[in-house]
Amino acid sequence: MRPCKEHDELGCPMTRINRVNGDGPVPCSIMLIGEAPGKSEDKKGKPFVGKSGSELTHLYLTKCAKIDRSNVYITNLVKCRTNGKDRDPTEKEIEACSQLLFHEFVSVMPRFVGAVGRFAARWLFNGDVKMEKMHGFGYQIDTGDARGMPLYHPAYGLHNTAMMRHIMEDWTRFGKMVRGDESVMWRAR
Ligand code: URA
Repeated sequence: MRPCKEHDELGCPMTRINRVNGDGPVPCSIMLIGEAPGKSEDKKGKPFVGKSGSELTHLYLTKCAKIDRSNVYITNLVKCRTNGKDRDPTEKEIEACSQLLFHEFVSVMPRFVGAVGRFAARWLFNGDVKMEKMHGFGYQIDTGDARGMPLYHPAYGLHNTAMMRHIMEDWTRFGKMVRGDESVMWRAR
């Protein structure tokens, strides 16, 4: 176990703490924010290295977005596996941990951010998110001049092949956004 030294200070409600820090270059123009580490990440101490991570790295990032993982800073909204279980993070866990994510964001200084899953998307866009409507579109982020795109979580595609096709299209659009294609930006927000 690698405990989180800020645990008490942040008011974190978790009891099983094994922090998985973000991974990648700092600063970095591309940042991905996932939900929380799963079993494999908890074991290896790196974000997105299990089944979902393999889909994210090889299919979505490399094949669809045409971006190499080594050029991306990858982290999670919640840094510990949710008390050793794969479940949605609670409001309290998100509130405590998002303070760490905020500091990370300031150090990484990304220009393009992929919010992987609805929890990360809510954090990035201050709760104002409808995934069905917003996924695959780029939006100006309120603070600074970065652009963000809500993306469905890769775990969603693992159970649903029809969904996987949509997710692949969204990641292709994410790659376009990173390469400066304005056609993926949502204008009516
Ligand atoms: N799912 C996530 O959201 N993050 C990880 O690091 C792994 C799986």
